Amino acid sequence: RDRDIHLFYAIPPTLPRYYDGDPTRIRQILVNLLSNAIKFTEQGQIKIEVGAQEGMLHIAVSDTGIGISTARQGELFQPFTQAEASTTRLFGGTGLGLALCKRLTDLMQGTITIDSRPGSGSRFTISLPLAVNQDLSMQDVALPQTEVALLCPMPEWQSLIVPHLQAWGIKT
Ligand code: ADP
Repeated sequence: RDRDIHLFYAIPPTLPRYYDGDPTRIRQILVNLLSNAIKFTEQGQIKIEVGAQEGMLHIAVSDTGIGISTARQGELFQPFTQAEASTTRLFGGTGLGLALCKRLTDLMQGTITIDSRPGSGSRFTISLPLAVNQDLSMQDVALPQTEVALLCPMPEWQSLIVPHLQAWGIKT
């Protein structure tokens, strides 16, 4: 809010609501990607897009931040690697988040890819081979519009949202 960054998400209404997967690990990846998106974006927007194709669930986190040069993109999944020598000084961080995301997506037989241009922003996409949970998806349980706030590391958002989620019987 301080930096005037807006968070959006797009989930097609036709997408099944439930997949069999490891929510803790998927949330860990998304929190990492979203934390980076917020950290490296001065202003503009951060978008979460979800889609499915040929047995794969795709989740993309994109931002309008500083971006990453093509030359550095491949190395960022190595532990303790940052795009620039100045990154720690300017933004802090350890260079471990993306290595963790890569390790976790590999363990789930998935992939993680970057599409980024310096100055224009970055888009990280995870693709996971998750099967639709037919039983739960058959029940018409609408995803609360605010559920995305759980993924957002801004504590003030969470404290506003959590009581509502609990009132709706959603575990927080
Ligand atoms: P950390 O964020 O702790 O430095 P990560 O492994 O999460 O470590 O990220 C590694 C590096 O990749 C970051 O230091 C930064 O240089 C670059 N990076 C990651 N995400 C983004 C992003 N959304 N926009 C620009 N650069 C990014």
